[in-house]
Amino acid sequence: MTSLEPADLLAWPELFLTAEPGAPTALLAGGCTGCRRTAFPRAARCPACGAATRPTELRGPAVLDTCTAVLSTPPGALVEAPYEVGVARFPAARICVIGLLTERIEPGTMVDVVVHEPYPGGRTFGFRPVGAADRDLAPGPRTTPSAERLL
Ligand SMILES: [Zn+2]
Repeated sequence: MTSLEPADLLAWPELFLTAEPGAPTALLAGGCTGCRRTAFPRAARCPACGAATRPTELRGPAVLDTCTAVLSTPPGALVEAPYEVGVARFPAARICVIGLLTERIEPGTMVDVVVHEPYPGGRTFGFRPVGAADRDLAPGPRTTPSAERLL
């Protein structure tokens, strides 16, 4: 059995535009020139029909359709549980993408795509409620989301 090392992740396709954690970003997708589907991650050929694709970007706002908490860390995972994941729907592109959530978010919430740091030095994309960046800058106490709230 092998485990993924951080260097292995460099061989993965580029998934999003790089930026500082918390900054808005875009997912790098491909739009099919044949069947008009959107594929994520981006690929040179459409996984559905094999036609060429052209680069396209998925940006928020998207709609969080569903979410759940991950309460146990899978073997070899770099992100430690508990954390939350969700499925965001990009209506204009007619595609849904699964990703980490930056906090507990209720289904039906409009979300933006942001750069997420799930562990020190780690970078991936995540979904954050629209307007949360403004809320996080406001003075006052903050509550920490808890996976137990899902149980
Ligand atoms: Zn296609």
